[in-house]
Amino acid sequence: MYKINENYLKLQGSYLFSNIAKKVAAFKSENPDKEVISLGIGDVTQPLCPAVIEAMHKAVDEMANAETFHGYAPDLGYEFLRSAIRKNDYLARGVDIALDEIFISDGAKSDSGNIGDIFSKDNRIAVCDPVYPVYVDTNVMAGRTGEFVKATESWSNVIYMPCTKETNFAPELPKETPDIIYLCFPNNPTGSTITKDELQKWVDYANQVGAVIIYDAAYEAYISEDNVPHTIYECEGAKTCAIELRSFSKNAGFTGTRLGFTVIPKELESNGTKLNALWARRHGTKFNGAPYIIQRAGEAVYTEAGKVQTKEQVAYYMNNAKTIIEGLKSAGYSVSGGVNAPYVWLETPNGMSSWEFFDYLLANANIVGTPGSGFGPSGEGYFRLTAFGTYENTLKAIERIKNL
Ligand SMILES: *Cc1c(COP(=O)(O)O)cnc(C)c1O
Repeated sequence: MYKINENYLKLQGSYLFSNIAKKVAAFKSENPDKEVISLGIGDVTQPLCPAVIEAMHKAVDEMANAETFHGYAPDLGYEFLRSAIRKNDYLARGVDIALDEIFISDGAKSDSGNIGDIFSKDNRIAVCDPVYPVYVDTNVMAGRTGEFVKATESWSNVIYMPCTKETNFAPELPKETPDIIYLCFPNNPTGSTITKDELQKWVDYANQVGAVIIYDAAYEAYISEDNVPHTIYECEGAKTCAIELRSFSKNAGFTGTRLGFTVIPKELESNGTKLNALWARRHGTKFNGAPYIIQRAGEAVYTEAGKVQTKEQVAYYMNNAKTIIEGLKSAGYSVSGGVNAPYVWLETPNGMSSWEFFDYLLANANIVGTPGSGFGPSGEGYFRLTAFGTYENTLKAIERIKNL
């Protein structure tokens, strides 16, 4: 008789967004006259920019002719897209990444989950707390996390790196030695980030202890400060210890269009085995490529028009972030994030728990946000608001919070 992967039974219910949805639905049915504004889920609201739409239309037309039709994409992704990435995301920042070190995918969520395929079950992972849940849950599925301990809301074999006010919302080097370190900067959910000097310490540490860093740079486009690295490969020695994940979701609004990529330098080796070769094998065996039309759309992000138009979108969201931060500060809240990321992380007032504040905000201001405790135990007492709404709704929401 067949058996299932019992690791799936260990997964803790992802109650966060379903709990939120349930509470919001209940509130709406009891208060049909109230206009609820969501600054909760991390999804974009602006449409794809004209340069991207134009490229997609053109690619669709190509698919209608035998001469210009495209079937399966090359394993690593089309060279036109990998060249644009190499030139604009890396060479322009003084980093030389080869074309065959870039793997096009359907997004950073899949890659951050799938990357575990090339690592032994006997690795110990370290994650920030609070954390993007995908890193932990995919390791639970792989059997790397041990048992869930209810009392501490944490996994017995995971090293947690608390990111709280005391640490300036950045992780500190762990006391126990991990094998795989997940870092995400600028960060979801806290909106915090670290400087290049600080990231260099992590690179040095990983090289020293023989750990690999999985660096999620999905929010790179939101960086506004000069001393914040746009890619981990700006740090010396990163090519021997780091994998970088990138996405078109947040910089160009591809959340529903799906495109991302992973960088694995050929210098990255474990006992003489190149991780690049393992991932190439994994990619070629289990994935048949992002669609041609979407890869052309991604290429358009790097055209002159595409750059201008996507920058405008990012600026639009960052203006929302500024509106949220200034409004909350003037209302007496303690806030962080929102400067290099589209997330504002606030301390719940009067010692309220994250969920108490959620209920309070929904009932009294009709605003939906995300309880910090849903991202990990150190998120308790915090709350996330996103800048991905429309400007009008953001403004309205902040006025309501000010009037509480
Ligand atoms: C949104 C997000 C991504 C992007 O995921 P896609 O699958 O590319 O849409 C990756 N990492 C984090 C932390 C995110 O918040």
